[in-house]
Amino acid sequence: KDTDIMAGVTFMEKTFLMVKPDGVQRELIGEIVSRFEKKGFQLIGAKLMNISNELASEHYGEHKERPFFGELVEFITSGPVFAMVWQGENVIATARQMMGSTNPADAAPGTIRGDFGVTVGKNIIHGSDSPESAKREIGLFFNDSELIEYSKLSNNWIY
Ligand code: UDP
Repeated sequence: KDTDIMAGVTFMEKTFLMVKPDGVQRELIGEIVSRFEKKGFQLIGAKLMNISNELASEHYGEHKERPFFGELVEFITSGPVFAMVWQGENVIATARQMMGSTNPADAAPGTIRGDFGVTVGKNIIHGSDSPESAKREIGLFFNDSELIEYSKLSNNWIY
C-alpha cells in the first residue's frame, strides 16, 4: 500500500496556482488554500513573492499583443503574489472549475472568482489551463528543490 501511495504522489498531475496581488491584499490566501486542501488536492510548493517585470512578461507572454497586456503586467507586479504548486488527479481542469470563468461577472457562485471577484482585471487567482502551461509555469516560478514530494495519509481516503 505504501508503494501505491508513493506511486500516486510521484506520477500525479501538477498545476500552478497563484493568488494575485488583489487576493493577497484582500486576505484571501487562507480561504483559497483551504478550498484546495478540503477538495483533497495536495500542496507541494508555495511562496509569497514579488514578480519582476521580466517574469510577468514571460508568464503572460501569450497575451503580449493584447490591449490589456500593459495593465496586466503592471497589476501582477503591483504587490506580492502567493505562488503554489498543487497535485492530484485531474487537478489542472478541476482547479480551473473551482476558480470559475475569467470574468468574475460570468463566474458561477461557489467558484473563487464568482464568490470574491467583480472585474476581469482583478480576478483574484491564476491557474494553468493545460498540461503544457502547467509544466511551463511551474518551471518559471519554482526550482525542483522547492517542490516537496511527500506521502499524505488522507490520499488513502481520496483515491
Ligand atoms: N485579463 C484582463 N482583461 C481581459 C482579459 C484578461 O485583464 O479582457 C486578465 C485577467 O486577469 C486574466 C488574465 O488577463 O486572468 C489572463 O487571461 P486569460 O484569458 O489567460 O484568463 P485566465 O486563464 O486567467 O482565466
